[in-house]
Amino acid sequence: MPGPYTDGHAGTYIIEGRTGPWELVIGLEVHAQVTSRAKLFSGSATDFGSEPNSQVSFVDAAMPGMLPVLNGECVRQAVRTGLALGAQINRWSRFDRKNYFYADLPQGYQISQYQHPIVGEGEIEIELEDGTRHTVGIERIHLEQDAGKSIHDLSPVFSYVDLNRSGVALMEIVSKPDMRSPAEAAAYVASLRAILRAIGSCDGNMQEGSMRADVNVSVRRPGTKFGTRCEIKNVNSIRFIQQAIAYEARRQVAILEEGGTIRQETRLFDPDKGETRSLRSKEDAHDYRYFPEPDLLPLELTEDFIAQCKASLPELPGAKRARFEAELGLSPYLSGVLTADADSSRWFETLLAETADRQGKPQRDVAEKAANWMTGELFGALNRLDLAIAESPVTPAQGAELLALVADGTLSGPLAKQVFEIMLETREDPGVIAEERGLKQVSDTGALERTIGDVMAANPDKVADYRGGKDKLFGFFVGQVMKASGGKANPAVVNALLKKALG
Ligand code: ADP
Ligand code: MG
Repeated sequence: MPGPYTDGHAGTYIIEGRTGPWELVIGLEVHAQVTSRAKLFSGSATDFGSEPNSQVSFVDAAMPGMLPVLNGECVRQAVRTGLALGAQINRWSRFDRKNYFYADLPQGYQISQYQHPIVGEGEIEIELEDGTRHTVGIERIHLEQDAGKSIHDLSPVFSYVDLNRSGVALMEIVSKPDMRSPAEAAAYVASLRAILRAIGSCDGNMQEGSMRADVNVSVRRPGTKFGTRCEIKNVNSIRFIQQAIAYEARRQVAILEEGGTIRQETRLFDPDKGETRSLRSKEDAHDYRYFPEPDLLPLELTEDFIAQCKASLPELPGAKRARFEAELGLSPYLSGVLTADADSSRWFETLLAETADRQGKPQRDVAEKAANWMTGELFGALNRLDLAIAESPVTPAQGAELLALVADGTLSGPLAKQVFEIMLETREDPGVIAEERGLKQVSDTGALERTIGDVMAANPDKVADYRGGKDKLFGFFVGQVMKASGGKANPAVVNALLKKALG
């Protein structure tokens, strides 16, 4: 294997081989399960985790004489997805049979779209960690059926098949070979997933198989023509996609540097070993004997239908992010974090609206405090508790109340942290917690003056030293008063009162 790579700026990822530098070329085919209660050509349910073979109709089991009926909702979701990616929507598309034999494919063919996909060229803007942005082209999106699942590890002598997924609608979203590093591929999948989730056309749950990627990788001398690619099938996490690309690229470089050639093939990624290994040599399209699906008419879309799909799109992550920067004055970093997924941006927007309401201020004036609290305190706690934002024990309204209590001086920063910890445990409102547990900041000058008097009486020598010119002792007095108040004294008030008392 060649030596270490340099993962430099702006997505350049050069492998320094023995014979010189190599560059990566990456294209992804993402399979995204369409959010729909029924399958692409049948009325069977699509719930995840159901009893095996409990969601299988005669159509999905390919009983003789059964006919597919196209699910309009899946078409609608594919068109919305195309529109969200700024892609061309094809008014006329067609389903084709892709013929192959596999135990989990009872029809003996998959209904897919080959020459005439429903969606044509589009693009996605991605952003890398260093803030650089790139555009990745989308080649096409087509609709197709998923296959069932063979199960080989339940019995030593039998293989089983679960057809629950058989016929589930997938969008195959094919990128152009526009990515040049594992980080770019990761950013692409993250952006795509955020868009799919925002518009609700796919839930994007990679662990449940709702989104998986076939990863195409080749290497070349920088700037020369593309090399032969290998396709790594069905990679189901962003981390594995990065690992698979890094491994695969170095494997290819090693072969080329030995004077070998790359064979176009389909490979598998083994997450335990961190390696890819050969599955089969790549079939050519003609091996599948594609032909137009005779049981379905071509799909024709009206302008009106496309206009309705367009009108149903919510604000997309990229637009939201730009608005957070421009209208709320948030940094690109915070805007990016808060729009990375739909749940987070929804939570933040509710928090922000409630915060502005409670404090009677424009959103712009409280946005940064709210954003910092959410990305710092809240995300930190959720991380620790291993919870998603949607499972947060603290609601946006409670977050807004907590921020308001800090803003009006009822809680100091440290007290707010204490109250927040209790909110996470008890789910109680911060006002109630502060009241019942006596965690309010003491700004009452009478009480604080008494405490200051006590502290001065207990330390006459220090008082004398301070008055004699040892200014540094001021901090000592502040500390003592804070301690005596159990950390609840308002530091600003303490400072002012102490200055007066010691002066
Ligand atoms: P196939 O059906 O053979 O998988 P597709 O056209 O569906 O072919 O997908 C090809 C994928 O491979 C696309 O995502 C494309 O960007 C990518 N790709 C094409 N050529 C290369 C290459 N030389 N190196 C890396 N990726 C490539
Ligand atoms: Mg393909």
